[in-house]
Amino acid sequence: MKILVINCGSSSLKYQLIDMENESVMAKGLCERIGIEGSKLTHKANGKEMVVEQAMPAHTEAIKLVMQALVDPEYGVIKDTKEISAVGHRVLHGGKVYSDSIVVDEDVKRVIRECFDLGPLHNPANLMGIEACEAAMPGTPNVAVWDTGFGMKMPEKAYLYAIPYEYYDKYSIRRYGFHGTSHLFVSGEVLKFAELDPEKGKVIVCHLGNGASISASIGGKCVDTSMGLTPLEGLIMGTRSGDVDPAVVQFICNKEGKDVNEVLNILNKKSGILGMSDGISSDFRDVGKAAEEGNHHAQVALDAFIYRVAKYIGAYTAAMNGVDAIAFTAGVGENDIESRKKICEYLGYLGVEIDDEANNCRGKVQMISTPNSKVKVMVYPTNEELAIARETERLVK
Ligand code: AMP
Repeated sequence: MKILVINCGSSSLKYQLIDMENESVMAKGLCERIGIEGSKLTHKANGKEMVVEQAMPAHTEAIKLVMQALVDPEYGVIKDTKEISAVGHRVLHGGKVYSDSIVVDEDVKRVIRECFDLGPLHNPANLMGIEACEAAMPGTPNVAVWDTGFGMKMPEKAYLYAIPYEYYDKYSIRRYGFHGTSHLFVSGEVLKFAELDPEKGKVIVCHLGNGASISASIGGKCVDTSMGLTPLEGLIMGTRSGDVDPAVVQFICNKEGKDVNEVLNILNKKSGILGMSDGISSDFRDVGKAAEEGNHHAQVALDAFIYRVAKYIGAYTAAMNGVDAIAFTAGVGENDIESRKKICEYLGYLGVEIDDEANNCRGKVQMISTPNSKVKVMVYPTNEELAIARETERLVK
């Protein structure tokens, strides 16, 4: 079965065609600058790359170009788009209504629309992607895989904010958690790789990238995760502050004469390691280099990032009354040897022991703890597209 995986942003569309026979990627690509001047498609298949520069006023045109690329006589990988059995879409927010992946019908589309205010950048784009696929491939099922799906399984005590209950009732204000497909994929894989009890294995996944979140799960079911109503809560990220006292917002508003929206924009786009490093960069490599050169702000930003991850690991170990395995994933988690080492240095009390030689790895599945370590620690590269393709196959088979 061939599954097309689509991930739509407001002006972009990423895709992968996956052959579920052997879970191999047949083709992948990216449409950029949809709706703005200079749109282009970059398509990669069979070791070759094709770039198409053509106007894409909306996602409908982008999907049409993707279809053409997939059947292209030279760069294509299929003869007819009918070979695509189903399309799996990453959809940001299913609100309180949906957590399990689902075949898209009118009701699903209504819920995606109703959640526009919960995911203002992504949900409209996700819906456009679905409708574009419906138009381009009539009769081919579309499946919505919710980025909030994993976090929706949290218990009430973890997802409710300590604010008047009526706001949950009226406006669905709760903690949802994001990076759901990544946490679902990695926690599931870790149970197998670390040979844990599939029902009772206690796993912490540290998804550390430009966006960063951490999850605790037992038997693959989410117990807690660090992002909240929006992806702003939790860890320190590339440009996002993560946890702050909400009074900080009011304080900055009053001091700088800004409104709430402006300050939220600062917390989302100008904070995190970019803000803490006094504007050096949101990229961990740049900040790491500046720290090596003796920049104090850069060093503190990295130290704070590591400290926050370690604090969350402690909290999540308490939440689960123990932890069997800790996994690092995403750009920083998979590649930053030093950050992994420093985070684990906080975890001696858990009996964590890291093998420095094993930890000297990037972007591959690898156990990095010693055989004596009381908790198994590993690097496990995430694969959100494959997680979406597996969910899609499960539903349409
Ligand atoms: P992601 O959002 O998962 O693509 O992760 C992006 C982040 O990963 C960026 O901040 C990169 O600096 C970081 N990253 C990628 N490779 C490395 C590396 N070798 N060392 C440290 N950070 C890295």
